[in-house]
Amino acid sequence: SGKKNRTNEVQYYSFEIYEQLSKRVEMERDLRDAIKEKSFSLHYQPQIDLASQKIVGVEALIRWQHHAWGNIPPSEFIPLAEETGLITPITEWVLKTAFHDLQSWVKNGIKPIRMAVNISAILFHEDLVSFLKRILDETNMNPAYVELEITESVMQNPRMTIPILKQLRSLGVRLSIDDFGTGYSSLACLRDLPIDCLKIDRSFIEDIERDQGIIVKTIIDMASHLNVDVIAEGIEKQQQLQFLSTLSCKEGQGYLFSRPLPSKEISTFLFKPLISSPV
Ligand code: C2E
Ligand code: MG
Ligand code: MG
Ligand code: MG
Repeated sequence: SGKKNRTNEVQYYSFEIYEQLSKRVEMERDLRDAIKEKSFSLHYQPQIDLASQKIVGVEALIRWQHHAWGNIPPSEFIPLAEETGLITPITEWVLKTAFHDLQSWVKNGIKPIRMAVNISAILFHEDLVSFLKRILDETNMNPAYVELEITESVMQNPRMTIPILKQLRSLGVRLSIDDFGTGYSSLACLRDLPIDCLKIDRSFIEDIERDQGIIVKTIIDMASHLNVDVIAEGIEKQQQLQFLSTLSCKEGQGYLFSRPLPSKEISTFLFKPLISSPV
């Protein structure tokens, strides 16, 4: 019977691989159609100036409502989009939709705020500059309100990346390093990067209780020496907010203030001038 079990295990195992592969093929096919079938949407999460408690920006986060599988998180389909090259049309859709939404909020009377969009490291080649310029032109978007969130992995090749970052910045957009502290960037290289802001990764905010915030403190100190802004990601607790406010952490983002919300809901949120109580 041991032999039989082994056989069953092998069959089960290969069936799983088959299922994974066929799901991947299916997902890739559906990802290809997702833009024209309108199954993507954007949610927006507010970014708060901690001193004034005002919303100074939002981060656009993509959502994919699959007809059969329901909501698929970006952590599952963005890697596939990167492997297949679909990340380019998807990013174009994200940028255009985000800019359009911001413009419509402003038309409805909201004071302009920053729009932060995530840009995959894989898009970091020469074409990125003309790609972004074309989209800014086509949408008639003021670059002063645009922020690109890039990950530390772009620092793997600083000789290629730095000139691109400089060109992007000369278009007038802001640049921030997402998930800061989780990558393997060299600090020496960070000093030379033309960036505006470090986004302290959520894991360090979570650790504040355990490590007395030593990592967060160090990052904020370093950012101030480098003359770049900081935003803390993933603030969930009042104690974390209080701690960050005692340091000179400029901005924050997290469930304590608001989860990412659809455009309609965020625009009502934006009409409230102050956040009096955490949502
Ligand atoms: P990210 O850019 O670091 O975004 C922050 C993630 O943390 C988001 O997850 C957000 O919903 C979540 N988050 C925000 N506040 C809190 C909090 O207080 N607690 C917890 N536990 N989580 C919080 P989401 O939306 O699932 O996105 C995951 C990642 O997928 C993003 O990480 C980003 O790397 C990527 N992503 C999302 N949208 C896009 C996109 O349009 N383009 C690209 N290239 N990547 C995207
Ligand atoms: Mg981000
Ligand atoms: Mg992040
Ligand atoms: Mg992340």
